[in-house]
Amino acid sequence: MRTMTDIEWFWAWWRQGRQFGHDPANGTTRLAFDPEDVGWRRELAATWETMGFDVLLDGIGNVVGRVGAPPYVLVGSHTDTVPHAGDFDGVLGVLAGMVVARRWHGEQAGLLLVDWSCEESSRFGISTVGSRAATGALTEQQLSARDADGISLRTAAANAFGYGSRPVFSIGQECIVAALELHIEQGRELVVSDVPVAVVSGIAAPQRWRLELQGEANHSGSTAMADRRDALALAAEVVRRVEQQSWEWESRGLRSTVANLEVTPGVANVVPAVTRLLIDVRAQSLSGLKTYRDDLQAFVDGAAQKRRMRWTWTTLSEEPPGELDARIRKHMADIVTRNGFQAITLPSWPSHDSLPLSRVVPTGMLFVRNTSGVSHHPGEMPRSADIAVGLDVFCQLAERVAREKI
Ligand SMILES: [Zn+2]
Repeated sequence: MRTMTDIEWFWAWWRQGRQFGHDPANGTTRLAFDPEDVGWRRELAATWETMGFDVLLDGIGNVVGRVGAPPYVLVGSHTDTVPHAGDFDGVLGVLAGMVVARRWHGEQAGLLLVDWSCEESSRFGISTVGSRAATGALTEQQLSARDADGISLRTAAANAFGYGSRPVFSIGQECIVAALELHIEQGRELVVSDVPVAVVSGIAAPQRWRLELQGEANHSGSTAMADRRDALALAAEVVRRVEQQSWEWESRGLRSTVANLEVTPGVANVVPAVTRLLIDVRAQSLSGLKTYRDDLQAFVDGAAQKRRMRWTWTTLSEEPPGELDARIRKHMADIVTRNGFQAITLPSWPSHDSLPLSRVVPTGMLFVRNTSGVSHHPGEMPRSADIAVGLDVFCQLAERVAREKI
């Protein structure tokens, strides 16, 4: 019997994974720690054992396959999804790691293949849980976060994978040459540039701020315009400012969004007294982020003073962005060029497991063009030919990093 090619093998495993949570009418829903997620991780663990790996399904749900001796090249991504997802975000990187493993014969390094747990923030509002845990960055506060049903992250992980009584994989106890991740691009840059893959320069960390604007409740009929302190009218100025600034900052590596607005009391006959804005910012550089925040706060202060209003600012999460390793990027660009493609470099706006990893080990990421340009949606659709290029470049990269020890 003819041996399957890498891309045929990829598609066979891709179909296998779809048995866990895929619904033709609604896309794939494999939320972290749900039965579909647990089922697919158990199946992967069993499969990797048949491929010759020592496998640990750890207490937080990371599936870690180990073959060979240290130092290790670590490859992986995640298989949990957002609700009604496509079938490539994360899955591509885990299956790519399996393709690397398939080709791994007597390389000068061992291989660690990982399916990171709970990468998506959909359930607990916290992303990259498994990779944070493995790098020692998962906090008690994050473990106490609750889902919509009031179940804490700690309890969900304990029930699904034995968190608290079973060990969690620790990067700090391993000798790792590099961590590598293949991922679909979740935007349209590669479609516009018409190339199948891109070298990722760095990963923007999501920053979340809550801005509360305090005005005064008063009768919406009898209060003269000059006497009003309308918190919603001020919020409108801020929303407009954030959008305008995002247009200006985009080419400088920052995008911002007012994602939610709460208005109190929110009834027709009262001038709005308080508004709360939830602001999401993705910045490629920490200095840019600070400049942007100072500028926005100065604007809020000026606009609030004109309306005789007060404001308070709460930082909900603030993490530095991650720079990806320059030596790995150079290898990647070289391999892409040798394979006959233009080597372009893109930042990643969404967060990935490579972000926590980049803080502790040299980390590299390669993007594959996603032809539809949509993600976190069933319409995610890279072409098979582009996936094949991505797998090939990724395998060559893993082999080179193993040979040259970075
Ligand atoms: Zn992902």
